[in-house]
Amino acid sequence: MRKVTCRCETSFDADLPEEIDLDGEGGASDGVLDEILNGDFLAVTCPNCGSLLKPELRVRLFSKKKGLDIVVLPELERGTLYSGTAGIPAGSEAIVGYVELYERARILADSLDPDAIEILKLWMIEKAEEQSPDGDISVSYAGKKGDKLAFHLSGLKEGEIAVLPIDPATYEKILADKAKRMREPPFDRVFKGPYRSVRILELDDSD
Ligand SMILES: [Zn+2]
Repeated sequence: MRKVTCRCETSFDADLPEEIDLDGEGGASDGVLDEILNGDFLAVTCPNCGSLLKPELRVRLFSKKKGLDIVVLPELERGTLYSGTAGIPAGSEAIVGYVELYERARILADSLDPDAIEILKLWMIEKAEEQSPDGDISVSYAGKKGDKLAFHLSGLKEGEIAVLPIDPATYEKILADKAKRMREPPFDRVFKGPYRSVRILELDDSD
């Protein structure tokens, strides 16, 4: 049971899990990836006003079969991750917020490699920053579009999201030599800790 508070100020105990075994009951074969992709993940109805709530709660997703162990933190706890106080268990990976969870579910559903996707994202961010040095650029994987991999880029133009199609051959090339890239700057920093995201590089920018 997890404590949830509605906008109507009702607090109640919701039957929501703290851990989900993707290999087991209620896991991937029972559609948990689809729930994440459809926006139904950890959704609960308020017993007082009937609103559908999607509280951002800390939840751990794991799969022995896929070699996955991911702790999803609420966006509000991003700072604890950066300061090393989020209490991520050794060997677990961290993801922040449901936007990043959606992206990871999309990557898993499309059988792509999350590390190779991060490497591609940084390349796109650097290209965009050349065009818009002051923009608050962010990129996320959005799914397959035809035979391309589609990425959403925001921050280039105020309020606009650009769709960047990437050729599968480009992805395959990155995937093929990712081990080498991961040892080189700045990727040695991206893949050092539990938060294997290009956003970890923001920490240096803010100095
Ligand atoms: Zn309510």
